[in-house]
Amino acid sequence: MGKKLLLEHINVPGIETLEVYRQKGGYASVEKALKTMTPNDVVEEVKKSGLRGRGGAGFPTGMKWSFLYKPEGVERYLVCNADESEPGTFKDRFLMEHIPHSLIEGMITSSFALGAKTSYIYIRGEYFYVARILEKAIDEAYAAGLLGKNILGTDFSHDCYVQVGAGAYICGEETALLESLEGKRGNPRIKPPFPAIAGLYGCPTVVNNVETIATVCPIINMGGEEYAKIGIGRSTGTKLISASGHINKPGTYEIELGLPVEEFIYSEEYCGGIINGNKLKAVVAGGSSVPVLPAHLILKTEKGEPRLMSYESLSEGGFVSGSMLGSGGFIVYDETTSIVKNLYTFARFYHHESCGQCSPCREGTGWMEKILHRIVEGHGKPSDIDLLWDIQRKIEGNTICPLGDAAAWPVASAIRHFRAEFEEYINHPEKIKDIKHYYSVHQLAGA
Ligand code: SF4
Repeated sequence: MGKKLLLEHINVPGIETLEVYRQKGGYASVEKALKTMTPNDVVEEVKKSGLRGRGGAGFPTGMKWSFLYKPEGVERYLVCNADESEPGTFKDRFLMEHIPHSLIEGMITSSFALGAKTSYIYIRGEYFYVARILEKAIDEAYAAGLLGKNILGTDFSHDCYVQVGAGAYICGEETALLESLEGKRGNPRIKPPFPAIAGLYGCPTVVNNVETIATVCPIINMGGEEYAKIGIGRSTGTKLISASGHINKPGTYEIELGLPVEEFIYSEEYCGGIINGNKLKAVVAGGSSVPVLPAHLILKTEKGEPRLMSYESLSEGGFVSGSMLGSGGFIVYDETTSIVKNLYTFARFYHHESCGQCSPCREGTGWMEKILHRIVEGHGKPSDIDLLWDIQRKIEGNTICPLGDAAAWPVASAIRHFRAEFEEYINHPEKIKDIKHYYSVHQLAGA
């Protein structure tokens, strides 16, 4: 069995309650940090751990914390990004639903490190029932003196609130999230300034993902150096992965970073192989935004080395022959899957979710959806493939926020690796009806 830090007690009855969570060692990081460490000690331990943001970008968390501007007399905030909207990703929901106190504990310990008297958990509207679970956990924590004034008899006081969003994908972008949290339309801000300088209500703010914040607890408990021994290279620790698609055992798994992709897909401990003994066709390794890789490139790198579940290995080869670990939304396609139809589903999603502030994203996502629609309907033109390629090139890198890139990369990788399938659709539209599988984004999200 692989190392488990976040899901070690997932099968313990009642682990969602404060009583059972504490019986299993819960809130030890709060005790340790508040009673035996300085805020700077906590930041240093997180730096030593090598923890990287688990929301998608993989930026070093300790470094992000150290950027926080700390002028005297100015409020600072910690905001948890629980707006998990990336298609194919549902691991934060799983953690919040089953072990809500792991997030609350992480919020307190992280807020202590940052000197934040107030924190917010911004959760997507579709997860309203999870918000209720978190609110219950927060109430329990207040009643036990783990939140509020003078926590555990120390000088540190802290309040934590849950804010439910309206269900827009773009509010997963940290500045759009802050706008929404302030009660405005969730439009991404132009940066700089970054939230570490001017974030929520214009105050210095750190925005971290659910899994990132929960991981601070085992880091403080075991020490940053010990944590850094888990994993591989600069991909330290464990990672939650949402596995979906044509596998025998879809679900949320905690893996040690560095696990071979082949083992993750085929071993009984994880995905249990492809359904019906079918062949693997492709994988989207980190949520719908990352490049799709065909079977031969997801199992091995271009150098012939085993591809590993790590930030470095999954991106080896750049976007020519690699992809990204991203949000950990691991979507598996078997040999019966239509890459073009799936791409059309993604294109509809990104067009629908574009906030419309910048022309390349607003117009480009619409054009890509329109072209893909005519291809899957059997009315594609031979020039459509190059046109799609051209549009995605003009979006990538030319937008205010990463949604533009997120819409462009799946198109680029699908054309790069599956161009023949596009040609088949355009040259032989009579075959389109034979394509069996057509996932909707709703299904991919595991909803
Ligand atoms: Fe809005 Fe798209 Fe521009 Fe992001 S890239 S700010 S979603 S229009």
